[in-house]
Amino acid sequence: MNNSETIYLSLGSNRGNKMENIIGAIEKLSHLLGTATAVAPIIETEPWGFSSCETFLNTVVSFDCPLAPEELLQATQQIERQLGRTKKSIDGQYSDRTIDIDILFYGSRVIESPQLTIPHPLLHKRLFVLQPLAAIAPQLVHPTLKKSIRQLLDEADSGI
Ligand code: ADP
Ligand code: MG
Repeated sequence: MNNSETIYLSLGSNRGNKMENIIGAIEKLSHLLGTATAVAPIIETEPWGFSSCETFLNTVVSFDCPLAPEELLQATQQIERQLGRTKKSIDGQYSDRTIDIDILFYGSRVIESPQLTIPHPLLHKRLFVLQPLAAIAPQLVHPTLKKSIRQLLDEADSGI
């Protein structure tokens, strides 16, 4: 497709039918953007940054995206609402969620606006993002850290 860029999205769910929520999000994203170019294996992970009895299911998907970054954020937030997400994270307080869709990369663009930070600022610290991302894009280079996903995963794994 012309004028489209490769995007990577992180999907997470720890409420309700988690598998259905993840699959439902991929379906809705595909209706909007076309078939995913890659889908990482879905993994089960422990909650990060808050305590909850509920574990997460996480994955990362990539698409060729014809939408502008702000349009993409609006679309992903609409899908979050459609899948029943009601609460936002407020002041960095995380909570259980039916679905969280975060934009990890938008091509190699670097964006810092009040609504949107790309690359996602915490992706290199989160194993639940780096593991699935490394499964589909190990050689992708982070545009500001200038390291491959494989390298970032190795460093996060060994606690560097
Ligand atoms: P979190 O994902 O940290 O749990 P939310 O999903 O509630 O939190 O998102 C909070 C806000 O983060 C959103 O309203 C959105 O404007 C902002 N945001 C900034 N950068 C990104 C990004 N790369 N992907 C998704 N949301 C982002
Ligand atoms: Mg989010």
